[in-house]
Amino acid sequence: MSSIPFPILFIMAVFFVFWLILRKFHRLEQKKRSLPDLNGYLYANNQTEARCHACDATELKDEGLTHGKDERRIISCARCNTMLYRFNPPEQST
Ligand SMILES: [Zn+2]
Repeated sequence: MSSIPFPILFIMAVFFVFWLILRKFHRLEQKKRSLPDLNGYLYANNQTEARCHACDATELKDEGLTHGKDERRIISCARCNTMLYRFNPPEQST
C-alpha cells in the first residue's frame, strides 16, 4: 500500500467518486424512463385524478426529462418529490 505514490491514490479516488456519481445518475435516468404514462399511473393506483401515491398530495410539479425545456415531462409530487409518471407530448402530425 505504501509503495503506491499518493498522487496516484488521489487520482484513483477521484475516478472512483466520478464512477459512483455516474452510476447513480444513470440509475435515476433509467427510473425516469421506466415511469408509466398518466393513464397507466391512474390505472395502477386506482385513481381518477392524479395525486401522489406516497403522501396523497394533489400538488404536482413537472420537469423536463433531460433538461428544463424537454417536451417529455416527468411529473413528480411537489411535497415529497416522489416521481409519479411521465408525460409525452403528442406526436406532431404533418
Ligand atoms: Zn407525495
